Amino acid sequence: MASLHDLTAEIWRDLGPHADETVSVEPAGVVRVRTGPSSEEFSVDADDSATDATWKVADQLQAILIEARHQPVPTCPRHPRGHPLRAVGSDGSPVWICPEDDVTIATIGRLHTT
Ligand SMILES: [Zn+2]
Repeated sequence: MASLHDLTAEIWRDLGPHADETVSVEPAGVVRVRTGPSSEEFSVDADDSATDATWKVADQLQAILIEARHQPVPTCPRHPRGHPLRAVGSDGSPVWICPEDDVTIATIGRLHTT
């Protein structure tokens, strides 16, 4: 699988980070996110499959940014004012779905390239 560092960088792009939001991957699978003055971290289970690691990292990064911004991240292209996309592992692939219509929007890490 891609390294956690590369994986996290791709997911981070999907979330359209603001200038004061940064992410870094530390040894032992710890992901640290800074949003303005605050900082949060979570760890990734080394035994997870690539699919599980991807959607779980996406889900955690997303939750941190939603809390920091008080708005949906990433926005659903079908319902831009309604809700964020949801990160799931579907048939062995990590994807963003619209949770309202249960429709796959993009592979996680490729949201802005599809
Ligand atoms: Zn939607």
